[in-house]
Amino acid sequence: MTQTPERPVRVVKFGGTSLGDAGRMAGTAGIIGQHATEVQLVVVVSAMQKVTGSLLQAATAASRRETDTWQRIGEELKRRHTEVCEALIPAAERPVIQAQIDTELATFHDFCTGFSLVRELTPRSLDSLSSFGEVMSATLMAAILRAGDLDAEAVDATELIVTDDGFGNASLLFEPTREKVRARLAPLLQRGAIPVVTGFRAATRDGSCTTLGRGGSDYSATILGAALPADEIWIWTDVDGMMTADPRLVPEARVIPELSYREAIELSFFGAKVLHPNSLDLPFRAGIPVLIKNTFNPTAAGTEIGGSKPQRPGVRAIASTAEAALFTVSGDRALPFTRLAALVFGWLDADHVSTLVVTQSSAENVLSFAVNRVDAARVRRRLDRERGASLAGVEELPDVGVVVSVGEGMKGTPGIAARIFGSIARLGINIAAIAQGSSELSVSLVVKSSDVAAAVRAMHQEFGL
Ligand code: ADP
Ligand code: ASP
Ligand code: MG
Repeated sequence: MTQTPERPVRVVKFGGTSLGDAGRMAGTAGIIGQHATEVQLVVVVSAMQKVTGSLLQAATAASRRETDTWQRIGEELKRRHTEVCEALIPAAERPVIQAQIDTELATFHDFCTGFSLVRELTPRSLDSLSSFGEVMSATLMAAILRAGDLDAEAVDATELIVTDDGFGNASLLFEPTREKVRARLAPLLQRGAIPVVTGFRAATRDGSCTTLGRGGSDYSATILGAALPADEIWIWTDVDGMMTADPRLVPEARVIPELSYREAIELSFFGAKVLHPNSLDLPFRAGIPVLIKNTFNPTAAGTEIGGSKPQRPGVRAIASTAEAALFTVSGDRALPFTRLAALVFGWLDADHVSTLVVTQSSAENVLSFAVNRVDAARVRRRLDRERGASLAGVEELPDVGVVVSVGEGMKGTPGIAARIFGSIARLGINIAAIAQGSSELSVSLVVKSSDVAAAVRAMHQEFGL
């Protein structure tokens, strides 16, 4: 793709918190204007704050024929988007933009009416409906930028990002995506225009709308960044950067100025919500630095992921999820352990379930694994079905969480495991399973969900984070 050499390309993504209301949208437009003076920009936007959740809630209500609920949500969506339109879009363009918002809301109405007629939600229609918020916010943001004399155009990511048909959490098909991204965005960038792309949404090869999973706009940004390719990707959110722990659990958590890709991947995989778990894979491979910045505090330095700073020793951060389930399966005595493992992982793979933690005892022919709680019912059903054939026993601990210490330098620092276990033992917390990542980048503990917060705080304190 031809780019002006002195204008590097930067993808900037704004989450729902940066798009909460007209005031926040105006602030975000100001930040975009600032970027535009420095680089060639591609903007990615999430839906306005809480909109995706409301759309999903409306769909469920419609399928249960709770008409008042979904209609009330529809009115609230109209009020919030219209308010932004009236506050920030000049009279000349306002009717066109308002008409586009109204078209989306009319489709919302049609979908909900359909759900309530058939009393059913299909994953395919749910993906279209749940990502309307991104279409509306991209339409609004592009118009707000134009009002500020920037050349900007809303682009629907269904024209750019190609996935399989795993509705709700679709998998990327990178090659066709790269072709589409370049073909569609190159002309805009060449004329110096700013594409404002809908996050979260994508489409199958035959054009059905899919989504990249909750929080997927981060992933949209890094997909575009890798496909262009961009020189940098900036994720604008509501915290000063990636922190030493979830700030909602540990109020004294600190911002980490720089992290390696591997450290940040580990943190996002284990629940650091600030980045979608898949979002760093492509930048890691392509060597594109990712910056996390705060729209509420734009002058703060933020976190740089994948920069050139040297690696730091020891534990860098604690990640956690309180929403997991631990399964322990034992094989028939006649079944070799490797066969048991092959069977279990085959089932998990077929059911698209990923594991958080895996431990084993080959001698006793026992395999334990933790999964996200949303996947637990699927695992339970599968194990119940297979139990008679080859499994001697299945146990489930339904209310567990996973607490993970992460740091590239952990392997070179002796005594870390002892300090992790010591800090937990002092609180009398029972550990249900332990795993050290094979990359020696992390140590994961499975504990009761109700012990997660205390375990995170104890480890955070132990390592002086
Ligand atoms: P956005 O709307 O910008 O995508 P999210 O709510 O998805 O924002 O992610 C930002 C939130 O992630 C923060 O407000 C914070 O509460 C949460 N979070 C969890 N763990 C971490 C962490 N280790 N570092 C920073 N934020 C974290
Ligand atoms: N709006 C979507 C969600 O709430 C995507 C995102 O915010 O990243 O999950
Ligand atoms: Mg997010």
